[in-house]
Amino acid sequence: MSAIRKIGFIGIGNMGNPLAGHLLKKGFDVTVYDIRPEVVKAFVAQHGGTGAATLVDAAHGMDAVITMLPDDKVVRKVVLGEGSENCIAAGLARGAVVIDMSTCNPSATRSLAEALKPRGIEVVDAPVMGGVVFAKDATLDIMMGGEPALVERVRPVLQAMGRNLIPCGVTGTAHALKALANYVNACALINAIEAMTIGKRFGLDPKLMAEALIPMCAGRNHPIEKKVIPHILTRQYGTGMAMGFIAKDVKIAVETARSVGAFAPLGERVSELWSAAAEKLGPNLDQTQIARYWEESTGVRL
Ligand code: NAD
Repeated sequence: MSAIRKIGFIGIGNMGNPLAGHLLKKGFDVTVYDIRPEVVKAFVAQHGGTGAATLVDAAHGMDAVITMLPDDKVVRKVVLGEGSENCIAAGLARGAVVIDMSTCNPSATRSLAEALKPRGIEVVDAPVMGGVVFAKDATLDIMMGGEPALVERVRPVLQAMGRNLIPCGVTGTAHALKALANYVNACALINAIEAMTIGKRFGLDPKLMAEALIPMCAGRNHPIEKKVIPHILTRQYGTGMAMGFIAKDVKIAVETARSVGAFAPLGERVSELWSAAAEKLGPNLDQTQIARYWEESTGVRL
């Protein structure tokens, strides 16, 4: 298997923009595509590289195509076309690899890999942990799902964008781990918001509570440290991760539980709450605005 040098990068959003920029800086030959042409233009002006006008152009002659898109439905449509000729599969040659860095349903990822197999195209799921700040610093933790030889082949590409690379197992396992990790965080975040809302109504100060909860609960609680104190209590709501994405990720975790017959009653409820908040307040708002769902439901302002 040859080294990966020419890369098509699809989805130049909050995460894709800095990540594709790192690949260029590290000397890869990068062609970018986004459904919003203005985003492609702005990327090329900022970082260099080549802008593609179609998905076929972004895939033609590439050793690998990276997708950083909203969800698995968009990834499938972009890669397989689903009725459209303009798709990645139509441009890629045998031996190329699709690296999906989006957060997707692991069953959908396995189905995508099956669909590409007859064309000689392999799939690695490579979702990331850490938000926009980590993407900008190339300090993301990147999980990798795929056979060991394939994972080794894509390693130099992913190393250019991340800090820790975590091989998880066969295709789909990285997407499963990512959704489950976000489920744990999403659960801890609303768990803290709920406790603080009750505490505030009882006369406790939310900041005092948040700071006290860190040493009291498991030594370190990532959502309290990284979300409640800097983004919710300051009302800055600026983590760069949309509420709709967390709702999606928790749903993936619950669907994965159902697909393997696991017991997840807490997950089912957490998923309902995130989906209801995203629907009521708007899916594009920052994830930390979930606190407003509690504020509006209870009349308690944190
Ligand atoms: P984003 O909405 O900023 O970017 C997605 C990009 O995809 C946009 O530029 C959009 O125009 C483009 N796009 C949508 N449909 C397309 C199509 N059919 N063809 C081509 N381009 C299309 O989202 P983001 O915050 O960059 O997140 C991307 C993925 O990364 C999601 O799966 C998300 O769950 C995951 N993620 C996000 C964060 C974060 O902090 N933002 C952190 C970890 C993982």
